[in-house]
Amino acid sequence: MTDVGERIRRGTRLTVHGARDRESGIMCICRRREWLASPHEGSAPTALRLFFKKAPPTEIYTLALHGTHEVCKVKKRNNIWNASPHIEPKHVVDVHTHIFEEHRSKIYIEKNLVIPSAKELKLIRGSDGRFSSLQKSAVENNISKFFILPVARDPKSIDRINDFYYRESTTDPRAVLCGTVSPGHPRLREILSNLRSRGAKLIKLHSFLQRFDILSDPALGLFEKIIEGGFPVIFDTSRIRQEHLMPEDSVSFLTEPFKLLKLHELLPDLKMIAAHGGGVLISDQERKPLIGSGIYLDISTTFNTFDWPENNYEKSIENMVYLLNHHDQDKLFFGTDSPWRNQKEEIEELKKLHTQGKITKDQMENIFWKNANRFFDLGLE
Ligand SMILES: [Zn+2]
Repeated sequence: MTDVGERIRRGTRLTVHGARDRESGIMCICRRREWLASPHEGSAPTALRLFFKKAPPTEIYTLALHGTHEVCKVKKRNNIWNASPHIEPKHVVDVHTHIFEEHRSKIYIEKNLVIPSAKELKLIRGSDGRFSSLQKSAVENNISKFFILPVARDPKSIDRINDFYYRESTTDPRAVLCGTVSPGHPRLREILSNLRSRGAKLIKLHSFLQRFDILSDPALGLFEKIIEGGFPVIFDTSRIRQEHLMPEDSVSFLTEPFKLLKLHELLPDLKMIAAHGGGVLISDQERKPLIGSGIYLDISTTFNTFDWPENNYEKSIENMVYLLNHHDQDKLFFGTDSPWRNQKEEIEELKKLHTQGKITKDQMENIFWKNANRFFDLGLE
C-alpha cells in the first residue's frame, strides 16, 4: 500500500475516496481508492494513522474517533486535498482583525457597509465580527495567531473596549491582545501599564475615527508614552474623500504617507506599523516613499486596492508585488482586516503570488508568520 502521508507531502493531485473497513468498522477517507488496503485485512487506515503520528501538532488535518464503532474520520482542513507542501505556509499570523461586542456587531457592520466610502474601500462582509467566528476561521484556515485590534471613537469607551478585548483574548491562546488609547487621555499611563500587565502586544490607533492629527502635540505626547511603555503602534491608514467627510471630520485627521514619514523622522524610536500597506485610496506615487523607509507595513486590504484611482486588479497586484520585493523584507506582516475581508480569500491571494513565482517561498513564509513571530515574540516554531 502506498504511504498516504508521503503522497500527501509530495502534493500529488488526487480525488477523495472513502471506504469502510468491514471488520473494524473504521471509515477511512483517502485520496485514491488503490491506496486503501483490502477491507478484510483491517488495515485501511494504517497509513493515515502513521501519517498522523508523524505530523506536527499544527498540521492541517483533524482526526476524530466517533462512537462505539470507532469511525475514524479524516476531515479536510484548509483545502488540503488540493494543497501542495510547496505553497502551504507553516503558520499564518493575521496581525489585523477586529471584533465587536455581540450586541453591537451586526448593526455596526451593516452601518459601515453602506457608508459612502465603503464601495471605494472595497469593504465586504468577510465575517460577522464575532470573536467565535474568528476562532472558527482560524481553525479552518490554519491561522496560528490573530491580533485583535480595538477601535474606540470616544475616549470614554476606551476602558470598556479594552476590557472587552482582554476578556475575549483570555479564552483563546491564538488571540493576541492589542489595546487602544487616545491622545490627551487623563489616565494615559495607567491605561498603558494596565495593557502591559495584561500582556498586550500592540497599540492600535485610528486617527480619523478618534479625531486627532498624528503630528499634533497631544499625539506626540502620547507616542512618547507609548515608546516608554515599550509598545509598537499600528495606524489605520484609510483615506476618506473630501466629499465624503462629515462636518465634524477633518482631512487633518487622516494618517497619510507623508505624515507617517514625518513622524518616523521626529520619533525614530517609535516602532510604527502602517496598516493596509501604507494607505487605502492613495496613489502608488504617494506610497513609494514608504517603501524601504523603516516603517513596518501590514498588507491587509491591499490585493485589490493598490490600483487607486485606476480600479484595475492586475495593476493592483503589480504594485503590490513591487512593494513586497522592494520593502525591507523583515518589515512586512500579513493581515486581513477581518471582518471587512475574508481571511481565507486573503490567504489565497498571498499564496497565489508565490505559486505564480512573483515572490519566493522564503518571502511568503516571512510575510505569513516569521516576521511577526520575531517582532512580537509569539513563540511559534
Ligand atoms: Zn482595520
